[in-house]
Amino acid sequence: MKNTKVTTYKIGRVWIPDYVPGVIAVVVLIIGFPFIVESQQSAEISTEAVGDGRYVLFGRGGNILASIGEQGVLIVDSQFPDMVPKYQSTIRSLGGGDIDFTINTHWHYDHADGNEMLGEAGSWIIAHAHSRDMMTKHNTINTVVNPLVEQPPYSQAGLPVATFEQRMEVFFNGEQIDLIHPGPAHTMGDAAIFLRDSNIVHMGDVFNNAGYPFIDADNGGDIEGMIAFCEAVLGEINSNTVVVPGHGPVATYNDLAEYITMLTEIRGKMMILIGQGASLEEVIAAKPTENWDAEKGDPLRLIDRAYLSLTR
Ligand SMILES: [Zn+2]
Repeated sequence: MKNTKVTTYKIGRVWIPDYVPGVIAVVVLIIGFPFIVESQQSAEISTEAVGDGRYVLFGRGGNILASIGEQGVLIVDSQFPDMVPKYQSTIRSLGGGDIDFTINTHWHYDHADGNEMLGEAGSWIIAHAHSRDMMTKHNTINTVVNPLVEQPPYSQAGLPVATFEQRMEVFFNGEQIDLIHPGPAHTMGDAAIFLRDSNIVHMGDVFNNAGYPFIDADNGGDIEGMIAFCEAVLGEINSNTVVVPGHGPVATYNDLAEYITMLTEIRGKMMILIGQGASLEEVIAAKPTENWDAEKGDPLRLIDRAYLSLTR
């Protein structure tokens, strides 16, 4: 005779049959499965064509701009090591080969940790001089709302072989590529990279199009500099320029202009409060970002870092 006895467990004052935890596990698995699949998919590369042989590659970390042409492959930013084989494969599927040149917009891990693998594979790396300097050292990044990020120094393979201070020109795949550094902004080593004939600019994290920007104030980042940097880029582009942000969707001249307006107004409101002697807590309570919070999200990280950069 089949034993139909059901074992029971007591949880608090309620006795439940032994099959209930199994049912709960199956339900959790079914409900959770789409999220598991989504998180795996979000670490795949998606591609947006932004010109003839020019692409933005979205994956995990900063947006990558790729130039694929008769002279080879040049990319701007390198994401994480686990993403390198994925975008190498994407670039091959787009008709490219090995990555000849890698330009970093800045030294932060989510834009440059892929450097070592690329360097070992033979890519030449270029960055602002201060970014290279930071890549040779251990760095701590304080994003305020998350635990401190510890970024170890890169091996020689991951370090730039060429650097610049204010301006540099590279000629590749039939066009002039200008690297400019108007001054400290998101970090002290930011570069905007212009693909002149394609009319594309990659701004790194000086322009964040996925919420409020982060200012790495502990490492020399500065809201005044961020505004000045954006204004310098705006002065070199036009209404047809493809503007690639460090994070978020591809943007336009008008998007960048509105971003400058937002930062300028927030800075202005904060400066008035700081001039009245307001503490950080008082500035946060005064909601200097409230006109944009519905669109941009939690302003704490921006206000905290902007306050530090405006009060030193
Ligand atoms: Zn960054």
